[in-house]
Amino acid sequence: MQLGIENKVALVTAASKGLGKAAALALSAEGARVAIAARGTETLRAAAREIAQATGGTVLPVRADVSVAADLEALVTEVESAWGPVDILVNNAGGPRPGVFTDMQEQDWATAVELNLMSAIRLIGKLLPGMRARRWGRIINITSTAVKQPIPDLILSNTVRSGLVAMSKTLADQVAADGVTVNNVCPGYMDTDRVRALNSAAAQAQGVSVEEVLARTVAAIPAGRIGRPDELAALIAFLASEQAAYITGTTIQVDGGRYRGLM
Ligand code: NAD
Repeated sequence: MQLGIENKVALVTAASKGLGKAAALALSAEGARVAIAARGTETLRAAAREIAQATGGTVLPVRADVSVAADLEALVTEVESAWGPVDILVNNAGGPRPGVFTDMQEQDWATAVELNLMSAIRLIGKLLPGMRARRWGRIINITSTAVKQPIPDLILSNTVRSGLVAMSKTLADQVAADGVTVNNVCPGYMDTDRVRALNSAAAQAQGVSVEEVLARTVAAIPAGRIGRPDELAALIAFLASEQAAYITGTTIQVDGGRYRGLM
C-alpha cells in the first residue's frame, strides 16, 4: 500500500531511540522528509544517519529537550526553515518517573506535566494553525495502554497521559473539518531501552532475575511475546497516511491483546 505521504514534512520528537526512532524510520520509508529531535546530539545524529541509510530518505536531526519551551520554539524554526511547514507531528517523550502516589513530591507531578503533556500541547499550538490553513495535518501522540488500564506503579504516566488523550479527543472534534486528524497510539510492552530499564529495576526490587520479570510480563500477553517498536511504527505511519483521513479522535493500543477492556 502506498501511504501517499511522499515529501510530506514529518516531525518526530524523542526519536533517537526506541519507539520514536521506529516511527521516524517508518515515515521515512514512506518517502516523508523526517526531522527527529532528542536531547543528546551524538545518539540523535547517529539515528538520523542510520534511518537515512536504511530508507534512502532525508532525515534532519535537531537537538531539543521537549520539556523546555524554548527548545520547542527553536526546533520548529529549524525544521520549517529547512523544509517549510510540518504536515505530520508525532509527539513522543521520555517516560515520567516510575512510582506510586507516596513516592511523589509536588515537583515530580509538575515535571511529568511538562514532559508528557505540555510538550505535546506546545508543539501542537505551534503547528496546528498552519495545518488548518493548508487543510491537511496529522497529529499522533505516543501514549501508553496506561490510559486505558492504569499501571499500578506508574502513577505519573497514568495521570498525565490521560490528560493528553482527553485534550486530543477534544481537539480532534474541533479540527476535523479542516482536514487535520488527531489520534493517540498506546504501546503495551515493546522491546526498547526503557522497558529493559524498567524490567531491571523490577528484578532488583523483587529479588528475581530479569528473565523471570520478562516471563511474568509475557504470561499476561495473549500474543505470547512483547512487541517490536516497528509494530507500533506501522500504525503510526498508517495514521499519518492519506488513507487515514477519516480516522480521528481514536486511541488505539498495540499490545498483543494485553489490555482486556472492550474499547
Ligand atoms: P526509550 O528510552 O527507548 O527512548 C526514549 C527516547 O526519548 C530517546 O530517544 C530519548 O533520547 C528521548 N527523550 C527522553 N526524554 C526526552 C526529552 N525530555 N526531550 C527529548 N527527547 C527525550 O523509550 P521508549 O520505550 O521508546 O518510550 C517512548 C515513550 O513511550 C516513553 O514515554 C515511554 O514511557 C512510552 N511507552 C513505552 C512503552 C514501551 O513498551 N516501550 C510502553 C508504554 C509507553
